[in-house]
Amino acid sequence: MSDPLIDLASDTKTRPTPAMRAAMAAAEVGDERAHEDPTVNRLLERCAGLLGKEAAVFLPSGTMANEIALAVHCRPGEEVICDATSHIIGFEGGGPAAIAGVMIQPLAGRRGIFDAIQLRAAIRNDRPYAPRQRLVLVEQTSNLGGGAVWPLATLDEVAAVAHAAGLSTHMDGARLLNACVASGIAASVHARGFDSVWIDFSKGLGAPGGAVLAGSQAFCEEAFRHKLRWGGAMRQSGIIAAACDYALDHHVARLADDHASAKRLAEGLAASPGISIDVAGVETNLVYFDVAGTGLDAGSFVRELQARGVRMTEMGTSNVRAVTHLDADASAIERAVRIVRTLCEESLKKSL
Ligand SMILES: *Cc1c(COP(=O)(O)O)cnc(C)c1O
Repeated sequence: MSDPLIDLASDTKTRPTPAMRAAMAAAEVGDERAHEDPTVNRLLERCAGLLGKEAAVFLPSGTMANEIALAVHCRPGEEVICDATSHIIGFEGGGPAAIAGVMIQPLAGRRGIFDAIQLRAAIRNDRPYAPRQRLVLVEQTSNLGGGAVWPLATLDEVAAVAHAAGLSTHMDGARLLNACVASGIAASVHARGFDSVWIDFSKGLGAPGGAVLAGSQAFCEEAFRHKLRWGGAMRQSGIIAAACDYALDHHVARLADDHASAKRLAEGLAASPGISIDVAGVETNLVYFDVAGTGLDAGSFVRELQARGVRMTEMGTSNVRAVTHLDADASAIERAVRIVRTLCEESLKKSL
């Protein structure tokens, strides 16, 4: 029998474990749309506490959390300031323009992280011909920034500058818990300067779906109205909330294993001929590297790799991304490293 595919394309590839499925099967449920699902209600209370906010809303996905937050915070024509690499720009189907109708002012941060000085420089004078600015958005961790963790001081400073200018603040916390495990700083502390924040359960936490968006009571009431309007209100979604709750109990501390695996993978890649990678820049579970020196472009590299049993993602002409997660243990990472090294060696031999 051939070895199973090692799927490092994304941490969304995780599948619910047997124990998670058992928790789902046993979940007490009700009509979520009428706030009658006890498992959803418990999860929301737990997440509001975790994130240090008054209230929370259960959503099918993180994309909906971002899009609802934009629509609640902003009116059409208003401007959102965020890093140029942000998920809302490149990966949400044009939602910010199509749904909330907002303009985006992208900042050139470093690894997805901008600072208070850059933000201050982006704040416009209030003139009738300028878009009205409304929201500052950060991504913790930064996805295209290589899983970089925003330092707490930077988050606090950016939030302070935003609020002083009368702007609201939103944290895309798709991988906030990775940042918490990497930094040892609680989620509520990371999020303390942010009017809204959400976490994703379908990434490294390993649930089949679900995101929780948190904020003030008034923000969440408005967010729930949007969720309903957009068809995101569900019925017995306690089945999914039970998986999320299980993930908070069992899959948070273990994110440290994913970070260790990512480091190990990065070291293995660094030792593979033709690959260039900033090993020190691998802070969490995302590993970006450049394959230009292997004689292959990113597309052929990824195709060759998949034929050998490892899946990674092409992120540009010579950039590749690998993501570690709970379905890829240490031995799978070792095997992936060996396969990559062999591919690099063979490719370089061929191009001699
Ligand atoms: C995955 C992701 C999202 C979207 O979450 P989904 O649950 O996949 O819709 C938003 N922001 C970031 C940074 C992400 O990585």
